[in-house]
Amino acid sequence: MPCNAELQKEIRRIALLNAVNHGGRAQQGPVIGKLLAEKPELRSKVKEIADYVAEIVNEVNTLTLKDQTKLVEKNSLMTLVKERVKEEKKLPPLPNVHLYETVVTRFSPNPDAPIHLGSARAIVLCHEYAKMYRGKFLVRFEDTDPKLKRPQLEFYESIKKDLKWLECEPDEYYVQSDRLPIYYEHAEQLIKDGNAYVCTCKSTTFKKLIDSNKPCQCRGLPSQEHVRRWHGMLEGAYKEGEAVVRVKTDLSHPNPAVRDWPALRIINTKKYPHPRVGSKYYVWPLYNLACGVDDHLLGVTHIIRGKEHLTNQTRQEFMYRYFGWAYPEAIHYGRMKITGATLSKSKILQGMHKRVYKSWDDPRLATFAALRRRGIQPDAIKRLIIDVGPKTQDVTLSWQNLYAHNRRIVEPGANRYFFVEDPRRIVVRNLSKRFVARIPLHPDHPERGYREFHVDPKESNADFWVATKDARRMEKGQVIRFMDLFNVRIEDVKNSVVRAAFHSQEYEEAKAIRAPLIHWIPTNASEKCQVVMPTASVAKGLVEQKCNEVTDDTIVQFERFGFVRIDAIEDDLIEAYYCHR
Ligand SMILES: [Zn+2]
Repeated sequence: MPCNAELQKEIRRIALLNAVNHGGRAQQGPVIGKLLAEKPELRSKVKEIADYVAEIVNEVNTLTLKDQTKLVEKNSLMTLVKERVKEEKKLPPLPNVHLYETVVTRFSPNPDAPIHLGSARAIVLCHEYAKMYRGKFLVRFEDTDPKLKRPQLEFYESIKKDLKWLECEPDEYYVQSDRLPIYYEHAEQLIKDGNAYVCTCKSTTFKKLIDSNKPCQCRGLPSQEHVRRWHGMLEGAYKEGEAVVRVKTDLSHPNPAVRDWPALRIINTKKYPHPRVGSKYYVWPLYNLACGVDDHLLGVTHIIRGKEHLTNQTRQEFMYRYFGWAYPEAIHYGRMKITGATLSKSKILQGMHKRVYKSWDDPRLATFAALRRRGIQPDAIKRLIIDVGPKTQDVTLSWQNLYAHNRRIVEPGANRYFFVEDPRRIVVRNLSKRFVARIPLHPDHPERGYREFHVDPKESNADFWVATKDARRMEKGQVIRFMDLFNVRIEDVKNSVVRAAFHSQEYEEAKAIRAPLIHWIPTNASEKCQVVMPTASVAKGLVEQKCNEVTDDTIVQFERFGFVRIDAIEDDLIEAYYCHR
């Protein structure tokens, strides 16, 4: 066997370490032992390797302990660097941070629906950047449309809960419906200064004019008249739709949506009361006024949001100029699609309305509540978002991207159990003794203990449950391995109970004939279990008794099935939610 450079390097690394740990002298035996522990595939070639090891050990032993130590340090430094590169992507720096005393970011949800994976990017980026610069992260509820985007009290709370779960809790919370007097004050200032006006035109008339770059008849009126109209709005002299405050921009702006944008309008809160402030207010700010004023007053330095907000920036910049404010740094990231996930709020709301979804944590939804129930970890969401970062290109991700991050996080903690979906009985005959299968709860963590199965044959027969899916693939005469137990030969698959006979015990025998491996449960040691799948269908089956010891809200791996989160443990039923393979 040729000893390639890679392997030589490895042997040298182990020999150096061994030498440093033993006063400068490496020994062949321990070096081979360590090498085989790391590369078990070399076991069959140990004789050939021994010569190379002897050679390298001799060479290492000619060095002084000091030199050996230096080399070990250099090696470990190199592995450290390598690992770090592989480990985590970092976010790129924010622009112009040096211009601000404290970096302040904000996430501003409308509490008219629960937040979901589509909001994760804004939340995680804003939170991470605030943390990175020891700044502040604000959350502002944008709840100023009690009519069309009607906020609901339950979502103010559920959003807070979701942010806590995501470990993205803000330093401060703000609620726009608490701040209406502030918006009124700023609107009045704009009107007094002639930078905004109260338009009483029909919206169709206004649109026609503005589309052809023409002012409406209100625009040119003296500001005193507009102040009078404004007070009229506040006092209820106009009905819904009869008066709108508009911020003056540029009538020849190439984007018609920028021209004299609406800033405040009337909502009949007798008919559409606000869930927090009821019918107290009649005039409500629109998005750009409320958001623009707040970003400035709350000291937001870096706005991080989707590029669909670019036009809003252009609109708000007019208002900022009128007030003599500097517009914050704005980072507009591209769209993020996740194939297979419905991230459209209106579609989610519609589905809830039509009762397609049973609850906000329905596994088909990408709400944080649903992800939490399915066992997705907040860190998996964070890693996914940080990997994508704030880049401006559109990205399309898949559930698999999220699952890969999640698997890495949950795998080490998830103990293994046998879950037999849609169980079918199989009788194994010809068992001449008792069998005990002792399987570790986690193959990498024997210290966590074992699951023990006792198979006590009665008249040489024993009964098991296997998954119908596995049973369907069985053919007469085929040898199948019951994982960690024994190998059987299938004798009859035609009847509802499959019949088989003991074949042999050792794994090697199964391996030699490439016998399929299946999981199983003795019929006298099972519990009922059902798993809610991502499609909201339910996989019913049996799980081994040992699974009883698991507490709820634990993630385990059902072998050959997938990772699941134990949702509830009842007296006679274990209910789980499926995470992923
Ligand atoms: Zn008008």
